[in-house]
Amino acid sequence: MSTSPSAGPAAEIGVIGGSGFYSFLDDVEEVRVETPYGPPSDPIAVGELAGRRVAFVPRHGRDHRYPPHKIPYRANLWALRSLGVRQVLAPSAVGSLAPHLGPGTLAVPDQLADRTHGRAQTYYDEGAAVHVSFSDPYCPAGRRTAVGSARTAGWDPVDGGTLVVIEGPRFSTRAESRWFASQGWTLVGMTGHPEAVLARELALCYTPLCLVTDLDAGIEEGEGVTMDEVLRVFGENIGRLRALAADVIATLPAERTCPCPRALDGMEIPLELP
Ligand SMILES: [Zn+2]
Repeated sequence: MSTSPSAGPAAEIGVIGGSGFYSFLDDVEEVRVETPYGPPSDPIAVGELAGRRVAFVPRHGRDHRYPPHKIPYRANLWALRSLGVRQVLAPSAVGSLAPHLGPGTLAVPDQLADRTHGRAQTYYDEGAAVHVSFSDPYCPAGRRTAVGSARTAGWDPVDGGTLVVIEGPRFSTRAESRWFASQGWTLVGMTGHPEAVLARELALCYTPLCLVTDLDAGIEEGEGVTMDEVLRVFGENIGRLRALAADVIATLPAERTCPCPRALDGMEIPLELP
């Protein structure tokens, strides 16, 4: 695999770790990548896992300094692509909008509903109008691999469902939470958008791995969700989430035959992609 001094060591698979998921690979080389959108959340850790070259970035920074609405999403995806990454795994902590999907549930949603506002959510701000298809926001091959790996590991996942992404950083009110559930949405998080659409705009594969840490406010009887609870449940499950991410990486196809690489076909792109 080629390396270049300016771009650092090449990687093919990227992992964006969420709250509580601050490190992943052993024996890494840390790469500082500059992008037209500023620096990513942290230097990118590049190493090898299961014979694949992997790049890891903690979404919130390793000291959790970026709240969900301030994460440099564009820089993160751009930096990963500039290192050669074409498939991205995105573990995150989410709330559940369904009582039967309790803490510790693993879900691989197939839909997303965006309730964020004011975030930079496109690379194509000027020069040309670029309208990517987002009807199916996640990579079908990545989802299949994630669901299969989880089943093999004995962590029976929820295959499908809708992740609603809220602006945060506050959690939902009970009314909001009941409204989301009444739409048929199953999970609630704060970072899934614009991350997924930015990946699509760079023709990357993007696969969410959602760990349920709590029942959202309108779903449970108690005090409502707290950050302590989220981090406690995440801490209890981080070992198997890491192991699952490693299994998925080992199993992801080397050649992409999914539609993601063709996301920009036939469009005039006003940027040169890294
Ligand atoms: Zn794909």
